[in-house]
Amino acid sequence: MMTTRRNILKGAVALGGAAAFVGGYSETGKRLAKGLATGSSGTAPLDHITINAHAPEYRVDAKTGDLVMNPDQQISFTMCQGCNTMCGLRIRSDKETGQVIRVAGNPYHPLSADAQIPYSTPVREALLSLTRKGESGLDHRSTACGRGNAMLSQMNSPHRVLKCLKRDGPRGSGKWKSIPFEQLVEEVVEGGDLFGEGPVEGLRAIRDLKTPVDPENPEYGPKANQLAVIHATSDGRNQFIKRFAFNCFGTRNYGHHGSYCGFAMRAGSGAVMGDFKKFAHGKPDFENTEFAIFIGSAPGNAGKPYKRSGRMVAEARTSGKLNYVVVDPVLTNATSYAAKDRDHWVPIKPGTDAAFAMGMIRWIIDNERYDAKFLSNAGPAGVKATGEAGWSNATHLVNVKSGKLLTGMDMGWAEEQAKDFVALDASGTAVSHKQLATAATLFFDGSVETANGPVAVKTSLQILADEARRFSLAEYAELCGIKPEMIEALAQEFTSHGKRAAINNHGGMMSSNGFYTAWSVLMLNVLIGNWNWKGGVSVSGGAFPAFGKGPRYNMKKFPDMVKPKGVFLSRSKFPYKKTSEFKRRTAAGESPYPTKAPWYPFSPPIFTEYLTSHFDGYPYKLKAMISFMTNPLYGQAGLNAAIGEKMKDPKELGLYVAIDGFINETSALADYIVPDSVMYEAWGWAMPWNGTVTKCSTARWPISDPKQAKTADGQPVTLEMFLIAIGKRMELPGFGDKVIPDSDGTLHPLNRPEDWYLRAGANVAFAGKPVAEASDDDIELAGVGRIMPDIEQTLKPDEQRRVAYVYARGGRMEDYAKAYDGEKLTHAYPKPLMVYNQKVGTSVNTISGKRFVGVPTWYPQQLADGTPLREVYPENEWPLQLTSFKSNLQSSYSIASPVLRSIQPDNPVSINPQDAEKAGVKSGDKVRIVTPGGSQLATALVRNGIAPGVVAIPHGYGHWELGARGHNIDGAQQPDMPELAAGVALNLIGLQDPHRGGHATLGDWVVGSAARQALPARIERA
Ligand code: SF4
Repeated sequence: MMTTRRNILKGAVALGGAAAFVGGYSETGKRLAKGLATGSSGTAPLDHITINAHAPEYRVDAKTGDLVMNPDQQISFTMCQGCNTMCGLRIRSDKETGQVIRVAGNPYHPLSADAQIPYSTPVREALLSLTRKGESGLDHRSTACGRGNAMLSQMNSPHRVLKCLKRDGPRGSGKWKSIPFEQLVEEVVEGGDLFGEGPVEGLRAIRDLKTPVDPENPEYGPKANQLAVIHATSDGRNQFIKRFAFNCFGTRNYGHHGSYCGFAMRAGSGAVMGDFKKFAHGKPDFENTEFAIFIGSAPGNAGKPYKRSGRMVAEARTSGKLNYVVVDPVLTNATSYAAKDRDHWVPIKPGTDAAFAMGMIRWIIDNERYDAKFLSNAGPAGVKATGEAGWSNATHLVNVKSGKLLTGMDMGWAEEQAKDFVALDASGTAVSHKQLATAATLFFDGSVETANGPVAVKTSLQILADEARRFSLAEYAELCGIKPEMIEALAQEFTSHGKRAAINNHGGMMSSNGFYTAWSVLMLNVLIGNWNWKGGVSVSGGAFPAFGKGPRYNMKKFPDMVKPKGVFLSRSKFPYKKTSEFKRRTAAGESPYPTKAPWYPFSPPIFTEYLTSHFDGYPYKLKAMISFMTNPLYGQAGLNAAIGEKMKDPKELGLYVAIDGFINETSALADYIVPDSVMYEAWGWAMPWNGTVTKCSTARWPISDPKQAKTADGQPVTLEMFLIAIGKRMELPGFGDKVIPDSDGTLHPLNRPEDWYLRAGANVAFAGKPVAEASDDDIELAGVGRIMPDIEQTLKPDEQRRVAYVYARGGRMEDYAKAYDGEKLTHAYPKPLMVYNQKVGTSVNTISGKRFVGVPTWYPQQLADGTPLREVYPENEWPLQLTSFKSNLQSSYSIASPVLRSIQPDNPVSINPQDAEKAGVKSGDKVRIVTPGGSQLATALVRNGIAPGVVAIPHGYGHWELGARGHNIDGAQQPDMPELAAGVALNLIGLQDPHRGGHATLGDWVVGSAARQALPARIERA
């Protein structure tokens, strides 16, 4: 190894520093020296290398090179739940006690290894690949992140809910009594005077699929819609709860936490990708990108997939492949001094990302730095001729008056071309987008002759250019606080790498202008035509079909399944123009606008609006709610202030059942809590977040016995058993002995979780070319023996060993070698990209009655009625803007981990030195952060790594439940744990929308996602 003089000097300084340290802290130094010799407890350590750590799970025989397993320990591959990245894990447990003792990464899994080992690798070789055998160094190192390592403590948490609980006092009193599972099911289904407070309607009475919930507005659907079923995230179990809600019970109101998390980003992505169903999104192909801009996303700090993107960005910048810029009000771990000039932090004013992006768009268009070859492809014939990896509608003509894309029908073309879009060829002739193989006209503003005479049209790109030119670069720069030269330099750099550049915004965009912001940012990727290219934007490798119509079982269809009907409680996706309200108001000669609350024409059901809509009774009220592992009162900015007290009133919401392993801020207000398996005790099938270039399905399976109560039949009480029991008691379709059809149409049972997840596993194992059969060695080494009896009892003989093969590897993963096809990504996004989105451009804002703009554009932060936020909360009263970021260790529910608390116990509020000086605040001072939504006491952290005029709080602290408050169960009082309440709960000072009336929280005015960034604020010395 070469040692340069410079490094020697560095070493000398380091040694000098160490000596000074020991000298200055001699007592500590002595203890340190003693500890090294004797172990931390002052007694001799168990082993001179591993000290007091657990004995290794296996070793390699130095002579033979064989794997020698530790007979006391078991290894298994399953899924992490430390955050919702859902990485593949390698779990080590104690064979005798079943206790999980260590967590690491699964080398087969693309979220945990770069690159993952080939799927056909026997488990024995997979384990050997993690050792020094063959001196492969770190090549196959597979890790869990710090949080993933620490979260195993959840399994034995003293605050875990282990029994079925019924409240034994007013809602939220913290008093509970345990009841048998069967009693819980009976009471929830049948209702009655359950709490001595008067009659409560049970699920049986609520499930009326015929009677309209509101006869005056029959389109709202049946009374069954008065049950809301909500859950947190795609943790591998969500399909089960979705099936129950939609297709067994038949309510329309199923939803998840997305709308109070990253939905604005997904909605903007849906607009650009022409997908308002699944809201597809893309990520940089981290391994091959040469230049990346992260805005609203911070690799190494947050974003999805958190661990993979952080690790890959760190590796790429170290090896010199990648330069990147993080545009963010806060300096996070996303940038690193170690990388020197390979990464840069560009501070920005919160809530102005769209101004920055529109400035770049304007510069790119004005300077013709866009990818003309890609953009002038009007359709598939163009793709074939140019060898591009897709096409956009940049050249398609839009009818300026109607906002509709011009079609062959408008042009009077033959029937087979009636649905084609229209582009102009180089001579200005209108041609079907499908047939035009040469470059289409990019910019056009004029009129074309249609079957009905001349019509004013523009190309989609022309509309975007016009919208971008509403402001000058200098004005955009002024709006976002980034110098015009910097915007120009970034635009120049971004357009200097061909397809090998990308902009990523996953995780951010949570301001009240989030939708257009996300769309503006993502449009930059369209302008350089990087979708589906190596080093550009990757959509996802996708997953093997576990829960769809699979090769072995149809998990989607069953006899008598219900199709839910009616309007979602959040007024999503239903055209307001088709409502009785619209017709009544129009017939009465009134304007149909504004509506009492916004309708969201292209949003999915959004939970941000569920509870507030319920309490406001628009469109209708709920009677019951079932929640699974979700916590909106903590997670949705401003919601607790809006409805927290009302949730405590059973007259306002008759029945609330929470399914959760813990009592969080929302489930603390439940009438019943159903205990559940947590972490590595549960079944499931999940897929990695986009950003993974190969196909993968992650298996989640109980590698440890669930600790909670059992049913009378001896099954652990879980989400699945609860819903199955309800289904059976109510005789709902979809549960019982003959409900899961196989490929021959034979029906199979759904009486236990295994019936569902193992059959889904058979679909995974048999998708495409079926996997091989597991060897006895695979089964033994990966601990699959503990579920082999279930596999044998549930699956057909030819399925059993193949499913075992999948569980032995923690899922099914495509080999990394299949990631690329030359310069293109193998898993390409097949649809065209939308420079102009017709759905957006023809939809109406039901508050203003005006059409939305159909391309990205700049809007300042605003209320639902269009009033700028700064008009209501002026700068002289609210001189700062509050923003948030994620801790790289704590998630919103990890505070219960003692290890993580010992590293990051608190979330001090970051303040720029200029603002701190004005407020007379120093680091460590107690300050009060005040917003129009409330105030919180916090500790100040004065630092240069935050833009002036901004205060920032890491999300995930300031809990008032999860153990912060002790509950009383069967008369036994749990202790309060104030350390779990440490820090600031950001969302407690979130805003409500003062112009909406009712209980509405501040949200994106177009798609209704929660706004928790860029809030007006001030700080005061406490
Ligand atoms: S990023 Fe960390 S905590 Fe999150 S799933 Fe992966 S290993 Fe677990």
